[in-house]
Amino acid sequence: MNLSKGDILSLLAEGGEELFARADAVRRREKGEFVEVRALLEFSNHCRRLCRYCGLNAENRKLPRFRLDPSEIVSLSQEAARAGYRTVVLQSGEDRSYSPEAIGEMVHKIKKSGCAVTLSCGEWPREVYAHWRACGADRYLLKHETADPALYRALHPDSTLSARLRCLRDLKELGYETGGGFMVGLPGETPETLADNLLLLQTIGCDMAGIGPFLPHPDTALRDAPPGSGELTRRAVAVARLLLPRANLPATTALTVLEGDRSVFSCGANVVMKKITPGPCKKLYQIYPADFPDADIPQGRREVEAEIRSYGRTPR
Ligand code: SAM
Repeated sequence: MNLSKGDILSLLAEGGEELFARADAVRRREKGEFVEVRALLEFSNHCRRLCRYCGLNAENRKLPRFRLDPSEIVSLSQEAARAGYRTVVLQSGEDRSYSPEAIGEMVHKIKKSGCAVTLSCGEWPREVYAHWRACGADRYLLKHETADPALYRALHPDSTLSARLRCLRDLKELGYETGGGFMVGLPGETPETLADNLLLLQTIGCDMAGIGPFLPHPDTALRDAPPGSGELTRRAVAVARLLLPRANLPATTALTVLEGDRSVFSCGANVVMKKITPGPCKKLYQIYPADFPDADIPQGRREVEAEIRSYGRTPR
């Protein structure tokens, strides 16, 4: 559906049950009652980037760092496939100590277990994305974070919005299901930024969009900033569902941490990511402060399925 910037600004400002019901109806029509459950494996918290909001940023010396071996990454992914997951998401900080070939090999091995593979490993040259695609990677998540180039630059002193968008264009052209997205409530953001964020998802042609609130991390430059609003985040998800009816829209972990439930499932969302990161590493993948209970992979899968059923939806 096409919405003007003015339409989006009004929907974000007014929100309400009508917006959520509209988005929910589009979700039901386009995606049915299924909730797609993805296994999320955070395999390294090393990062060379300086993102001002992120606890993994290279300047955070307080954070103990970890890196999983490729063989462990493959065997955890295979365990997820046996537990019923149909997609594994491999996410990390921007860690150049894994070579493109090593990541490609992991993708190739995991694909043999029948799972789709989503990568979320940051910005790499086009030929690397092409190599991973040739190894079987199906999807790539790379949020654009904010559509305001000046704010982008202020929050990422080592990068630019145009570099990020170049990556997203490459991914799309290489045939990945491409996931963009952004944070809601970054310091310096305006309602116009939020509307531009939503329109940018459409311009990129996103197949997926992760929309979550900014949550301040105590060991970052933005420690004193207030968190983004859960209500506004849900409105943004609802508008994204209107703009991109067929897209996969997760109930982001950040929103679940902020709100304590997944009510965003009734605002247009249809995907959930369940961490399969081993317990000690999960605690160290500190993008923002949060506590995640320990559960083995099959138990975690059972829990998330029960939760989805409690919302009257069907896990897949
Ligand atoms: N390195 C990869 C990348 O750049 O896409 C993936 C890992 S990165 C930590 C994953 C996402 O975490 C980012 O896209 C960002 O939106 C989110 N994130 C980081 N810090 C956050 C914060 N303080 N609050 C909410 N989300 C945050």
